[in-house]
Amino acid sequence: MQTKINTAQEAFGYWKAKPINERIAHVQNLKKVLHEHRIHYATLITQEMGKPITQSLAEVDKCGVLCDYYCENAVTLLQPKPIKTEAYESYVTYEPLGVLLGVMPWNFPFWQVFRFTIPSILAGNVVLVKHASNVTQSAESIEALFIESDFPIGIYQNLHITSDKVAEVIAHPEIKAVSLTGSEAAGSAVAAQAGKHLKKSLLELGGSNAFIVCEDANIDKAVAVAVNARMQNAGQSCIAAKRFLIQHSIFDTFTEKYKQAVSQLIAGDPMNTETQIGPLARLDLAEELEKQINQSISMGANVILGGKRKGAFYEPTILINVTSEMPVFKEETFGPVAALVAFDTLNDAIEISNQSDFGLGVSIFTEDIHYIKNRINEFHEGAVFINEMIKSDPRLPFGGIKKSGYGRELSEEGIKEFVNIKTVVIN
Ligand code: NAP
Repeated sequence: MQTKINTAQEAFGYWKAKPINERIAHVQNLKKVLHEHRIHYATLITQEMGKPITQSLAEVDKCGVLCDYYCENAVTLLQPKPIKTEAYESYVTYEPLGVLLGVMPWNFPFWQVFRFTIPSILAGNVVLVKHASNVTQSAESIEALFIESDFPIGIYQNLHITSDKVAEVIAHPEIKAVSLTGSEAAGSAVAAQAGKHLKKSLLELGGSNAFIVCEDANIDKAVAVAVNARMQNAGQSCIAAKRFLIQHSIFDTFTEKYKQAVSQLIAGDPMNTETQIGPLARLDLAEELEKQINQSISMGANVILGGKRKGAFYEPTILINVTSEMPVFKEETFGPVAALVAFDTLNDAIEISNQSDFGLGVSIFTEDIHYIKNRINEFHEGAVFINEMIKSDPRLPFGGIKKSGYGRELSEEGIKEFVNIKTVVIN
């Protein structure tokens, strides 16, 4: 570990001094190599964590889109900003912090790492990444990708450590900040250690997004989006819709159509290009989901589709008669289970939506855009998407509030998380 930190520290010395266009050229080359090997990387993702191969390919391609976005915009985003004051001249500059630690999850093994790394290194930082223990091959191949793309040694390094060693890395004087994507428990441990050593931290944690369908919505569109919003990556996504709030008058119609659409998903071997639902990433995750569902059933929820587990594979499942005390409502469910709740008025929907401890995002389906726009500030969320599922886009900031974490990735806000915003005044 010490050797890697030393290597990173040395690399930071010359990396930060490089003109930004040279850093951009390195990332452009990385994107080219990533694209050339896209099938190889996608296959690795699928083999390691069971994501259907078409979705793994989409993940790798999205990493390329992220590289393009930051290569096109980094110069503008990081250029000094003049600010008019009484002084002869005043402005702010954006300078890199140094060696950053990334602690990353397995559910999007490439995307999460790219989302943290690319803006960080374009800003002039260097990174050490401790990836999740069940995606070690993805972790190694990302490091190999940097080497193959002729990145200087030390800009990106993989840290092969267990999670109990993370605190020691954060405490190291050369580590300037830490970014974690993962569970509440991990986020809390990392933030506590970063706080103890007065280092900046960014947390992207869990979510239990509501997906609200109002009676004036285009129901067919809402159903089609709702399938993807919950079932993509077998439901193992922080921004997946997990609680479906449906207005009473359309509850039965929506439910019937949703059940019909979900029951048509093709489950099976994730290497097969036809497959839409694969197994969960680990057996214990499927067992945990089973516990949450069974407990909710014992509290009065009814299964109208699925509800069975075979090994690590969990059937796409829909539950109705869900209440706010049940685990499928209160906790994050990291698998293909949709919890349906009926509501009377939009006021009720907002209240139910806000009952969650999480605050990553909410989707609302309605045709009355003018009305809903005036209610957006009532949702306690990092994102509100109207007539669309929550999805990340390099052009838009991404992150949560409440127990979903703090800080923002992507877009201008993301590239400015790990910089020293330096104020300069000249008289
Ligand atoms: P996790 O168990 O928290 O693991 C995430 C990373 O943190 C792994 O590298 C893990 O290492 C490490 N870790 C675990 N406990 C730690 C500790 N006490 N101190 C330091 N590091 C620790 O989460 P996961 O199961 O991999 O991922 C699923 C969670 O991530 C879900 O809650 C999901 O919602 C969240 N997530 C959030 C976002 C977002 O953008 N908001 C995106 C994706 C996922 P080991 O693997 O070695 O344990």
